[in-house]
Amino acid sequence: MKLYYDFHIHSCLSPCGDEDMTPNNIVNMALLSGLNAIALTDHNTCGNCPATAQVAAEAGLLFLPGMELCTAEEAHVVCLFPTVEAALAFEAVIAPTLPPIRNRADVFGEQVICNTLDEPIGTQDILLTTASSISVDAVPTLVRSFGGTAFPTHIDRPSYSVTAALGDLPPLGFEAVELTATADVDTMRARYREIGTKPLLLNSDAHRLEDIQEAGPWLELPALTPTAVIDALNGNFTVEWSRG
Ligand SMILES: [Zn+2]
Ligand SMILES: [Zn+2]
Repeated sequence: MKLYYDFHIHSCLSPCGDEDMTPNNIVNMALLSGLNAIALTDHNTCGNCPATAQVAAEAGLLFLPGMELCTAEEAHVVCLFPTVEAALAFEAVIAPTLPPIRNRADVFGEQVICNTLDEPIGTQDILLTTASSISVDAVPTLVRSFGGTAFPTHIDRPSYSVTAALGDLPPLGFEAVELTATADVDTMRARYREIGTKPLLLNSDAHRLEDIQEAGPWLELPALTPTAVIDALNGNFTVEWSRG
């Protein structure tokens, strides 16, 4: 079964995310875009995953709770989990590793937690766009211990990518990689041998509703379940894929 996905979306809980990136708006835009599956991946938090998971379930959209973790090296890695419970347990490990810097909403933007009606039910006080103290080489094993999968994001970008932070893409245990839409795939493959034949994910990294991507990139999966996505991205079987 072909799964049309967007596994890198920010909500209004990311300070850089638009305030209308609420659970219902994200799910409805994903459906309008013809997607079968999305992940919510706010910076260093899973706080809007419970509401979004419920809204997605009621809409029949496959949802993976996630986080875009900023590692100690300032490398961004998307972490996806099979359940909200697993994501929140992972978040409980990450939260104490963030520097205790308070968000300044007037400078960085609001960090809003929503309920299933898109109503604000709180804000996150600690600034979420800082670097955790988790080293990037610890991430794949740590995320797998919560039943999840992790992939380095936008590795063709010159900032906040594993390649920018480390100067290379060493064998760290990631079995999938995210490249932006403008990346030259052949150039990236030649530059980073570690890419090999790994699935090259294309996600939107949407911070605005209109940036959630249209159905295009896909994975061919035996079942449309979070576990099938996670197994595929962990390299547990060879997955057919296309960047659309
Ligand atoms: Zn990022
Ligand atoms: Zn992002």
